[in-house]
Order: sequence, then C-alpha cells, then structure tokens
Amino acid sequence: MSAIWHPFTQHGLGEPTPKIERGDGARLYAADGQSWIDGISSWWVTTHGHNNPRIMAAMRAQTERLDQVIFAGWTHEPAEDLAAELIRITPAPLSRVFFSDSGSTSVEVALKMALGYWHHLGEDRAQILVMEHSYHGDTIGAMSVGERGVFNRPYDPLLFDVGTIPFPHAGMEQMTLDALEAACAQKPAAFIVEPLILGAGGMLIYPAWVLFEMRAICAAHGVLFIADEVMTGWGRTGTRFACDQAGVIPDIMCLSKGLTGGAIPLAVTLCIEPIFAAHHSTDRSRTFYHSSSYTANPIACAAAVENLAIWRDEPVMERIQALSDAQAAHLAMTSHHVMVENPRHLGTIAAFDLAAPDTGYLSNLAPRLIAYFRENGVLLRPLGNSIYVMPPYSISADDLAHIWSTIAAAIHALEQDKLH
Ligand SMILES: *Cc1c(COP(=O)(O)O)cnc(C)c1O
Repeated sequence: MSAIWHPFTQHGLGEPTPKIERGDGARLYAADGQSWIDGISSWWVTTHGHNNPRIMAAMRAQTERLDQVIFAGWTHEPAEDLAAELIRITPAPLSRVFFSDSGSTSVEVALKMALGYWHHLGEDRAQILVMEHSYHGDTIGAMSVGERGVFNRPYDPLLFDVGTIPFPHAGMEQMTLDALEAACAQKPAAFIVEPLILGAGGMLIYPAWVLFEMRAICAAHGVLFIADEVMTGWGRTGTRFACDQAGVIPDIMCLSKGLTGGAIPLAVTLCIEPIFAAHHSTDRSRTFYHSSSYTANPIACAAAVENLAIWRDEPVMERIQALSDAQAAHLAMTSHHVMVENPRHLGTIAAFDLAAPDTGYLSNLAPRLIAYFRENGVLLRPLGNSIYVMPPYSISADDLAHIWSTIAAAIHALEQDKLH
C-alpha cells in the first residue's frame, strides 16, 4: 500500500492510480507499455508536449552549472534572461517580474502587491473584488478570492470577505458591468479575474468586449486590475495571453502552468511600475516581504527561458490555430447529440455539458466518466457534468480523434445506461 495522499482524490472510493513511467508528446506510458492520451495537458500545464526535447535539454544543461541559489539579494542568468524576455513580450506598462513557484502563490503575491501598494500610498483600500465561479488556487488567500463551495467549506472560517461580481452570462453582461461599477465606487483595492474563460469553474467563456469594459471600469476608478492568466496564458485561448484578444493591459498579471512548457513548477507575477515604486524606498518597512525557499529556481527558469525560445523559433501559433480548428470541428460533430448542451470553444479548449436526468445521478457522473476514459486509454477529468478537452499543442490528429471518439462512446454508453 502506498503512503501517498493524492490531491483531489477520495481514497475511500478505492479508484486505481495508474503509475506513469514515461511521457512523450501527448502520451503517458505505464511500465507495462499501456498508454493514455493526455486530453487535459496534465491539468492544463503541458503546452509543447511531455518531455519536449528542447526544454529537457535546457534543464539538463542548467544542472551542470547551478542547482539553486538564494534569490533575496542574489541573482542568476536564467532568471535575468527570463525576466527580460517576459518584459519584452508583454505590454510596456508591465515592467517588473516577481518570481514564485505555483499559480496559487502567484495569486497570493498579486494580492499582497495590491494591498502593499495602497498601504504604502497611505490609502485605506483593502477589499478585493472577484467574479462569481472563479478559481485562483488552493492556498487560503487564493481560496478566499475563489468560488465558495464543497471544495473549501471546512476552511470557510479562515477565508476573508470579498466583493463578488456576477458572471457575465450571455445577454446578462450589462448586469456584470453595472455590479462592477457599483463595487468600484466603494474604493476596493483590486479586482482579480480569469480573462475570457473561467477554468475550474466549468470552462465558462465570456466575450472579449466584456473583459475590455471591466478593465475600463477598474481604470476609471483607480482599482487595480489583476489578470489571473495562470491557465489562459501561453496560447490556451488562441492568443499568447487571453488579455491580448481584448486589448487589455492589466496592472498585475499572474503566469504559471505553461510558463515552463509544463515541465517544472515556476510562476511569475508581473506588475506595473507604480506598484514597484510604492515599495521602493530607503525605508526597510516598505520592503515587499514575500519569498519562498525556491524562488526563481535556476533549473525551472532555464526551462522557462527555453519555452520562450520555442515560442520565438517555432510556429507555435500555427499549431495552436490548427488545434483550435480541429477542436471546433470535433465539438461540432459531438454537439448533434441530444445529451450535449452548451457546446463552447475558445482557442485550444473545447467543452460541453452533459444533460443528466437528476442531480443524484449527476453527482457521481464525473467519477464514472473518468473511470471510463481511463479504461479506454484517455486521460480526461470532467468538471462535474462538464466535459472538456484541452490537449498539448503537439497532439496528433489521430490522438485527438481518438479522444473525441472515446467521448462519443462514453455518451453512447451513458444513454444505454451501460456506464458503470
Ligand atoms: C490552476 C490555477 C491556479 C492555481 O495554480 P497552481 O499552480 O495549481 O497553484 C490559479 N489560477 C488559475 C486560473 C488556475 O487555473
């Protein structure tokens, strides 16, 4: 018996835990040669495929030079190169890069930057505005700004109060904008949002013009605008960053997941110069007091530098466009089915909801689907009754077709009441 307590896993249900030995492109292999097509990019991180040769080589080369060095008051070349390149590829107002280790910590850093900014300016602004159904991570601060529910109920007494703006459902966008306008008038510190698509909330998509208007409202009220691009960054939504599609420049931007191509943990929080300037002083009490032991680990930075080189040298956007087109075509074919509701598509992400007869049925639908997919060579992990496909950009047409035919077979089995 393994001693491991797995994340988001109910060990009491006794589900099998396949042991992966090797990864290659969109495929994961067990020791006995059994393989799975990774239809969710191993929880949205893998962009150029597993074990991308360039990223692996860059990490190997870095291990010959420097494994780790304290980052408080010290620096190293991979971090310098990465920061310079990030500033080069993002809009000019984003001028500073703060490193951390995960999406959740990049969000914690963003919140602390926002609070620190107002504090050092001597203004009493501490409230955070959030969007309904959002997900920003699993640490206490990140949970506080995310949707409340079964996932965080035991910790609710520790979560801080936020102002919640309704999700801009189709036809109801003005309600969202009015609510944001009203909330901004109360002088909150910041508004944090997942641009264009709410991931863990169920792949909920809203239009670019709404993102643009939300940003404009925040700007008009001097409310800091935090874009959590942890999932949407690095091409997922069809552009390098989701904000690009709306012509939006955030005050603070969180990046992780695909930052290293998905090979090794790393995150950054980018911010505009005034936020850095508010902390910049000869007064030590204005220091930005945040660090984790492995901040800007050199091997992780080397992987990220290589990821950015791949974006420069290779036709990444063309691959994304091809995958996006293929996803749209597969989704359109699947949408004919009577059980398929709300088919939606944004860049490389395709999703739909399964119409299930009742909620009791619905509650154990996801685990049964996950088991069916696993038994049929596909790694998918529906969010409740929402099935989504978000593969690495390097996936072959055959593997993508196999994912969708397996989904069609699962729907068929469900219809025949043969999905156990
Ligand atoms: C995954 C995710 C996070 C949390 O990132 P971790 O690396 O899992 O801590 C934060 N925000 C969004 C939008 C995410 O999708």
